[in-house]
Amino acid sequence: GEPVINPDKCIGCVKCVKVCPAQAIEMFFTPEEQKILDEILKQGAPAVEEMDEEAASLAKKLAAYRGVWVFIEQTEGEAAKVSWELLGKGKELAAALGVELSAVVIGENVEHLCREAFAYGAVKAYLMDAPVFHYYRTESYLRGINHLIDKYKPEIILMGATGLGRDLAGAVATVVGTGLTADCTGLAIDDKRNLMQTRPAFGGNIMATIMCDKFRPQMATVRPHVMPMAEHKPGATGEIIRETCPVREEDILVKVLEIISDKKKDQVDVAGADFIVSGGRGMMGKENFAMLQELANELGGVVGASRSAVDAGWMPQERQVGQTGKTVRPKIYIACGISGAIQHLVGMQDSDVIIAINRDKEAPIFEVATYGIVGDLFQIVPAFTNLLREMKA
Ligand code: FAD
Repeated sequence: GEPVINPDKCIGCVKCVKVCPAQAIEMFFTPEEQKILDEILKQGAPAVEEMDEEAASLAKKLAAYRGVWVFIEQTEGEAAKVSWELLGKGKELAAALGVELSAVVIGENVEHLCREAFAYGAVKAYLMDAPVFHYYRTESYLRGINHLIDKYKPEIILMGATGLGRDLAGAVATVVGTGLTADCTGLAIDDKRNLMQTRPAFGGNIMATIMCDKFRPQMATVRPHVMPMAEHKPGATGEIIRETCPVREEDILVKVLEIISDKKKDQVDVAGADFIVSGGRGMMGKENFAMLQELANELGGVVGASRSAVDAGWMPQERQVGQTGKTVRPKIYIACGISGAIQHLVGMQDSDVIIAINRDKEAPIFEVATYGIVGDLFQIVPAFTNLLREMKA
């Protein structure tokens, strides 16, 4: 029923009004009540000087940190694309703050990545190049980054929400004693130089904006393909700051013996594809995904799936698109027999063009679709494939 405020218990602190995520609570006071409340507030408030002193010391602490850093993730000297995407966002944040955008490059024989980072918009690169950093290990990279943070004090550090980035960001934030927001979908600066870190919460039903206003650096991870690629200007230059390695091999307990490639597993990279044809529960069975594969082949793309299709065992988990699957940003996303649950939408709604095929014209997928086709996918998909074949012939 209707929520009721119990007047015996309510002290009129309006905390509930402030925290209600739906902003559904309003509170009104009579002039007499307001007078009593004002009295209480006056008595309860700490002395003004005390507050000022605290605020001033906090402001001083925070002001010691300046600049936006992006961690350049690399394997065998090749950078993860998400790092370049983050440089694009980082540049915006640095401009809003009036500070420099820097890249953090750690590895062995990786100086070329500094130059690549300049091409993607960094003006400085902190380079730690040593054999101890050849393979990623939490301990060595953690110590390396901590050394840089201690010495150069950045106000923001961004990392990709990849396996490596998730591991490293959590470790760094814990040791440095600062906050970390994982899987951000939006980043911006507020009027007090704080980073506003937006991400879905409560199963994607609300967007939460998280701030870390008392600690520095502010740390955030972002999944691949969430941010657009940074502009690439070949030949752009910047300053390389070479830092000597603070880590000795004998201090690191973990040794990498061998790297076993997972190429045999499922080679298809859904997150990186330009064209994706996804199937949902409406596909009715595993065998029908062959039809989607044919369409994907014509487009030069790959087949994705909703969670229902994965749970049914029709597609491997690596192909799942959505909140607990991959975030994708293809040129064209074709959703076949997918209803468009919020958990699916958060993973694909930033695609350039979305084509939805569904026989239910009320399906929520049509709300995000660029083109909606109401009808039976078993007729439409093969017709689509044939049309593409005819156009090519
Ligand atoms: P349904 O919702 O069953 O939709 C099937 C659609 O097919 C219907 O709209 C129907 O009209 C249409 N259809 C049927 N037959 C035909 C036909 N012949 N021709 C045309 N259309 C047809 N889901 C994800 O996808 N990814 C996630 O990462 C994810 N994470 C989740 C995380 C949490 C915490 C939770 C609670 C849920 C998550 N889900 C996720 C599940 C999500 O809520 C939905 O249950 C799921 O996306 C539904 O899949 P679907 O659209 O394939 O199936």
